[in-house]
Amino acid sequence: EAAINRIAAGEVVERPASAVKELVENALDAGATRIEVTIADGGKTLIRVADDGCGIPATDLPLALARHATSKIDGSDLLDIRSFGFRGEALASLGAVGRLCIVSRVRGQDAARIEVDGGRLGAAQPAARQPGTTVEVRDLFHATPARLKFLRSDRAEMQAVGDVVRRLAMAEPFVGFVLRDCTGGEERETFRADAEQGELFGALAGRLSAVIGRDFAANALRIEAERDGVTLTGYAGLPTYSRGAAVAQYVFVNGRPVRDKLLLGALGAGYSDVLHRGRYPVAALFVGCDPRAVDVNVHPAKAEVRFREPGTVRGLVVSAIRHALAGAGH
Ligand code: ADP
Ligand code: MG
Repeated sequence: EAAINRIAAGEVVERPASAVKELVENALDAGATRIEVTIADGGKTLIRVADDGCGIPATDLPLALARHATSKIDGSDLLDIRSFGFRGEALASLGAVGRLCIVSRVRGQDAARIEVDGGRLGAAQPAARQPGTTVEVRDLFHATPARLKFLRSDRAEMQAVGDVVRRLAMAEPFVGFVLRDCTGGEERETFRADAEQGELFGALAGRLSAVIGRDFAANALRIEAERDGVTLTGYAGLPTYSRGAAVAQYVFVNGRPVRDKLLLGALGAGYSDVLHRGRYPVAALFVGCDPRAVDVNVHPAKAEVRFREPGTVRGLVVSAIRHALAGAGH
C-alpha cells in the first residue's frame, strides 16, 4: 500500500512548488490571516508552512493524513467547488514521499504533533504551539530517488516556489504572506506582503505593490467590467511596464490562480494595438462567475479551466482592457 501511495503521490506533488501550493491552500482553507513559508535548498531538504488558521484537533490528526478520508467536498456537485482543497490527498501524498511533521492547535485545546515517514504514521504526541498549524516536509522524494532526479537546480525550484507564493498572495490580499529561505541555516526573507485592510481595490493595489512593485501599482489601470454574469476586476499595467516574457501575468478565476490559455490570450489581445510582438503586458485580473459556468478540473494541478461560454469571457477581457487603455490615452 505504501508503494501505491508513493506512485499516486507524484500526481499531486511533483516538485517543491506543488507541495507549497497544496500547503498554502490548506492554510487558506483553514481561514489563516498570516502564512509563513520557509524553504531550504529549493525545498528539497525543507518546506515549512505555518499558519494561524483554525488548527486540526489532536484526535483528527491521523485522519488528516489518510488518503481521501478528509476531502472537503461531499461529492454532491463536483463542479461547484468553493474551497481550494477538494481531493483529500495532499497530506497523505507528502507523508508518502517525504518526512512529514504536523504540529497543530485548535484555539482552546492543547497542541499536538504527528510524524509520518515514507507512509508510516507515528502516534500523536503533545506539543506546544500558538493556535494554528505548522506542516513541515523534510527530504521530499528521499524515498523515490527517480523523482528526485527530475527536480531542477535549487535556484530554479526556489524560483518556482516564489512564483506560487506570489500568485497565492496576489489572490488573497487580506492575508499576510512571508517567504523565507533558510538554506545553510541562515534565514533570509525573500518575499513579504503584509495583510491589506479596507476595500477591495485599495487592498488589491497594496498587494500589487508588494508582489509586482510600488511604481507599477501606482500607475496601473483599474479594470472593472461585467458581461452576462461574468465579472472582471483588477489592474492592468501601462504598456511601458510590459516585459519580454509572460512572467507577471496574474490571472484568477473565482479566486483561484490559473494559467489559462484563453485568459492569457485575451489579455494579450487587449494590448495588441499598443504592444509589439514579443512584449507581454503585466496585469492582475480576477474573473468571477457562477462556479457551474466553469470547469476547474481540466488539469490535475488546477491551472487550466474551461468556460462554458469562452467567447463571453474573451470578449469581456479584451474590451475591458482596450477601454482602460483608451481612457489612459493609448
Ligand atoms: P484536502 O485539503 O483536500 O481536504 P489535504 O490532504 O490537503 O486534503 O488535507 C487534509 C485535511 O487536513 C484537510 O481537509 C483539513 O481538515 C486538514 N488540514 C490540512 N492542513 C490544514 C491546516 N493548515 N489547517 C487546518 N486544517 C488543515
Ligand atoms: Mg488540501
